[in-house]
Amino acid sequence: MLHARATVREELLDEVFASTDLSVSMPKYRIPEKEHDPRHAYQVVADELMLDGNSRQNLATFCQTWLEPEVHRIMDLTVDKNMIDKDEYPQTAELEARCVHILADLWNSPDAANTLGTSTTGSSEAAMLGGMALLWNWRARRKAAGKPTDKPNMITGPVQICWHKFARYWDVELREIPMEGDRLLMTPAEVLQRVDENTIGVVPTLGVTFTGQYEPVKDVSDALDKLEAETGLNIPIHVDGASGGFLAPFTAPELVWDFRLPRVKSINTSGHKFGLAPLGVGWIVWRDVEDLPKDLIFNVNYLGGNMPTFALNFSRPGGQIVAQYYNFLRLGRDGYRKIQMACYETAMYLAEEIAKLGPFEILYNGDPKLGIPALAWKLTEDVEHDFTLFDLADRLRVRGWLVPAYTMPANRQDMVVQRILVRHGFSRDLASLLMDDYKVAVAHFDRHPVTSPLTEEEAGSFNHS
Ligand SMILES: *Cc1c(COP(=O)(O)O)cnc(C)c1O
Repeated sequence: MLHARATVREELLDEVFASTDLSVSMPKYRIPEKEHDPRHAYQVVADELMLDGNSRQNLATFCQTWLEPEVHRIMDLTVDKNMIDKDEYPQTAELEARCVHILADLWNSPDAANTLGTSTTGSSEAAMLGGMALLWNWRARRKAAGKPTDKPNMITGPVQICWHKFARYWDVELREIPMEGDRLLMTPAEVLQRVDENTIGVVPTLGVTFTGQYEPVKDVSDALDKLEAETGLNIPIHVDGASGGFLAPFTAPELVWDFRLPRVKSINTSGHKFGLAPLGVGWIVWRDVEDLPKDLIFNVNYLGGNMPTFALNFSRPGGQIVAQYYNFLRLGRDGYRKIQMACYETAMYLAEEIAKLGPFEILYNGDPKLGIPALAWKLTEDVEHDFTLFDLADRLRVRGWLVPAYTMPANRQDMVVQRILVRHGFSRDLASLLMDDYKVAVAHFDRHPVTSPLTEEEAGSFNHS
């Protein structure tokens, strides 16, 4: 009897939430004096993360929020591996090199076996590297011609923030083509208006952040070919394929945007977006060895030999790279195509359903020939509405959905849009449940018209990540 009671007591002491550790609130901004039981500390941290909200209902992000159990296991296997230690972990280095070749091949490199490229932490680091290569090459050309190198510029459409960073950090003038009226993308004519001898490169985006649409890489390239024929100005292209680089090869193979165009010198993509890898991996590949300036390359020891590296970071986890390789092997072209097409079909289904509701005008409906598996819409113009898209976004949060509303960049800051990214794991069934909630939210404003609309900040501003 006595013995049994002691056991019960011990078990109770062992119970996480009744423990002495958890009967008080934990210190938050100072390291505690004493250690805590790992189970207790884990519970506290895990519970706090619960307040973050559910990433799979985050329809704002481009990044993976669902991963196969095998990917979780690979991440576990590799949590201790530093990808920069090429000598200690030569096989991880080998898998990285294979991924570069696979991407070069997917992007129709003329010589995929001899291409140069690297993994990065994401498209942002890859964009820095791509931009630097353009800048270094331009400087070398200018110096060789005895011309000044103090006023470099770069031409983009409405771009993701990483290109603003690149321009500011490296002191390059960013000639960002603003949106005008219904034109929300770069066009060849707009590029030609801005190009000059100080242009280090043109950066079209395959999957523009604000709408999801592809910019016309081939048309821009053709226009620059004509410019070269007429003036001798030879302007390289870097494609920001953060999303599209992992989509178009599978879902729009006839779209010519990649190394099939000789003017395309480098391409970046995010492995953790439609590459279906877990967060923390991007890629950049150069067309030719000559497109990557030699003095940007550092050599590290690798199996007693030299391994060229070009990166901003040093220590970095190897797991995401290994998971990327796993995905290539696991899915093949067919698997990627099936997964991405399922996402496109769900995007087009949502676009149809939202259009049917009446007060909305679809800007992009998720057509795989025109952009990424996403949709963007606005409120119909010239009609009074009982709510703004900010109010609607706020209302949807009641059910945990994050469907961002935001203003467009220059010169359409007057236009408010709402956007959904359809990713692996956002099933048609979940989409239909979202539509139910969307209708309920719209009906709510029929009964309770908004008299004091929310601002963008109040509705919850977010990053285009
Ligand atoms: C997401 C994104 C980036 C930034 O990529 P990260 O992988 O988040 O660093 C750059 N450009 C475009 C077009 C993007 O969609």
